[in-house]
Amino acid sequence: MRDENCIFCKLANGDIPTATLYEDEDFRVILDANPASKGHALIIPKEHYANLYELDETLAGKAMVLAKKMVTKLTDVLGCDGYNLVQNNGECAGQTVFHFHLHMIPRYKDDGVGLGWKLNELTDEDREDILSRI
Ligand code: 5GP
Ligand code: ZN
Repeated sequence: MRDENCIFCKLANGDIPTATLYEDEDFRVILDANPASKGHALIIPKEHYANLYELDETLAGKAMVLAKKMVTKLTDVLGCDGYNLVQNNGECAGQTVFHFHLHMIPRYKDDGVGLGWKLNELTDEDREDILSRI
């Protein structure tokens, strides 16, 4: 299913031209318009799924296999030193486009890309709460 109001449906299906690194029957891989670093790309399914919760399980597996292949190839092409895979779900998590996508962000030594978070201590209360309910 596609959503006619969704920009990523249009990009993934070629309705709007975009810099494409790879395409197959399930996905298009494009360069991000606002890259965190040189080569920042997005894996986008051609069908509309708002987020990981909605994503078809088979496609979820295929997306990760594709990410492995793309990262391996792009590391060679770009000469980067590492990679972050980032996937945001929900506004509070930084999602701005509500069509599932997987960020592949090349990392270069001392590139200053800020993807960090503050490290907290796992509390006894949180550990017991989570383990008792999972
Ligand atoms: P999110 O914040 O939802 O995880 O990521 C959305 C990403 O999509 C952002 O990195 C943003 O730069 C990218 N983006 C949004 N609109 C477009 C577009 O029209 N073309 C491309 N290539 N990237 C886009
Ligand atoms: Zn869509």
